[in-house]
Amino acid sequence: MMYISTRGGDERVSSAQAIAQGIAKNGGLFVPEELPEISEAEITELIGMSYPERAAYVLSKFLTDYTEQELLGYAERSYSAERFPGEGGAAPVHTLSDKISVLELFHGPTCAFKDMALQIMPHLLSGALEKTGVKGDAFILTATSGDTGKAALDGYHDVPRVRIMVFYPVYGVSRVQKLQMSTQEGENVMVCPVKGNFDDTQTGVKRIFTDPEANKYLAERGYFFSSANSINWGRLAPQIVYYVSAYCDMIASGRLKLGEQLDVSVPTGNFGDIFAAYIAKRCGLPLGRLVCASNKNRILTDFLATGTYDRNRDFYTTMSPSMDILISSNLERLLWFIAGADATRGFMESLTSGGSYTVPADTLADARRDFYGASCNEEQTAECIRSTYEKYGYLIDPHTAVGLYCAETYIGEEKPQNKLLCVSTASPYKFASNVYPALTGKKLDDEFECIDETARLTGVTPPAPLSELRSKTVRFDPDKYSMPEEMLDCVKRFADK
Ligand SMILES: *Cc1c(COP(=O)(O)O)cnc(C)c1O
Repeated sequence: MMYISTRGGDERVSSAQAIAQGIAKNGGLFVPEELPEISEAEITELIGMSYPERAAYVLSKFLTDYTEQELLGYAERSYSAERFPGEGGAAPVHTLSDKISVLELFHGPTCAFKDMALQIMPHLLSGALEKTGVKGDAFILTATSGDTGKAALDGYHDVPRVRIMVFYPVYGVSRVQKLQMSTQEGENVMVCPVKGNFDDTQTGVKRIFTDPEANKYLAERGYFFSSANSINWGRLAPQIVYYVSAYCDMIASGRLKLGEQLDVSVPTGNFGDIFAAYIAKRCGLPLGRLVCASNKNRILTDFLATGTYDRNRDFYTTMSPSMDILISSNLERLLWFIAGADATRGFMESLTSGGSYTVPADTLADARRDFYGASCNEEQTAECIRSTYEKYGYLIDPHTAVGLYCAETYIGEEKPQNKLLCVSTASPYKFASNVYPALTGKKLDDEFECIDETARLTGVTPPAPLSELRSKTVRFDPDKYSMPEEMLDCVKRFADK
């Protein structure tokens, strides 16, 4: 299967090349030229398999220049019980009520769903470098609103032929997240705080990627740029797996009948997670409506309501910081699927020049057939954390609360027949400084005290990687930040090391 750019042109690359390269030469994102099928017979077969086997099976449909045996090897290492110690495998489904189930994607080493892709991505990249015969080493540059950075650092540290550099904004990243990144071990890693918000950081990274001078500077030192952000197809493909896996698990437990449609609600930022659900659906997995759940930064909610995507608006930092985003990069892939390359190129040019674009009515109607947009403000998020714990004894993080709140909005308004699967994207303990006040109405100054008090209150054990943070050495000082315009200098300094 070959991959092409969302912005057209004649670049056409293999899956390994798409993964090694990250982004298309004309600035577009790689998309598969055609989609594989996932049939009911295959779903039946997948039910009897473990998560790594399911992953190898599904990934082999998209990553055709890897053998299924290779993929299975990667998946077994990435989704081992050691790395995902929760009960029920790497991506267990928790039944909340008659109508709603929760897909828990936070049992990995960094306690957020990014691990689902970023544990396997380094293997995919190493394989890609070998297969494509690329000379030189990958220099991974990543902008993070919190969770990606740590998950990428954990996945890539000490991987041969790879260097990884993570930029995070000083505004909107929690103390635990900062500590997770600044204590990262490994000889090939660099972590840089940037004085700005996530969009400043992401824009800076995108500019460096396409800057000819920066590319030349790296090439002269034996490196080429690669990305770990969800714009890389190697990030997206592994996310398709857990929707298939959840569907299989729900059949196995009798919650669903084969062929029965399942609605999905996804707390959304960069539109990567929910876009993977869309791909799974297009391949034939019986998914119904996809609820695109936003926090107070409701740019996608407004887009799905009006057809206008407009980033000229106030930016809010919220208690669900991984969704504080004004440019949802993967939306570009959806636009390509429903409006084609020429239109997509136009939208993106308009976004770059004026900060907004408007899609034609038929494109919007297409998007709305599959997606339902809803948003949840800060008070509603806190209230959802509290009421979910009171009603079901189930502890959720603020991102998951946004997903669940929007799911309830959808169910209330559309009265769907289908059952719904809400994606849970982070451990509540990763955001305890907001979870604890939401549960009790009380504030505590120290984030670790919030973890301890929440554990005492609920009896839910905090994940080991978070508890262990307290005793780790800080390697990258969170107070030594750079300005956005200094990011290129940071890259050069790390390349010279
Ligand atoms: C990254 C992230 C999201 C948003 O996922 P996208 O793929 O960017 O839409 C939601 N919740 C958490 C905890 C995350 O880390």
